[in-house]
Amino acid sequence: MDKKVLNKIIKKLNMKKNEILETIDRELQNEIDDIKSENITGDIVDTANTAYDLLVNSKLSEKEQEKLGEIRDALKRVEENVYGRCVACGNNIEEKRLLAIPEAKKCIVCKATEEKKNILM
Ligand SMILES: [Zn+2]
Repeated sequence: MDKKVLNKIIKKLNMKKNEILETIDRELQNEIDDIKSENITGDIVDTANTAYDLLVNSKLSEKEQEKLGEIRDALKRVEENVYGRCVACGNNIEEKRLLAIPEAKKCIVCKATEEKKNILM
């Protein structure tokens, strides 16, 4: 893959990662504020833990964390020099697809096959 394109993709991945981390942070802060305003006794560590538990259990964070995992995986594949290769068939993933979905790890053919399977199941 062209180094320029790869750099662009890495930048995108990092931007997405920061966005998600900010969202999670914001959610966490909201939870902490909620708990504080409810005047729950206990030290600050307990408060943070409770907030974190709440966040971990919430649907939003589940989705965000899954996405975050995908992005981290993609960055790891960049480091390992295997980024852009389909994890299922080993073919190169279309550059256009990677630019649109930088965390994609399957080529369009394998992704379509996977989705078809999901529908049938
Ligand atoms: Zn494939």
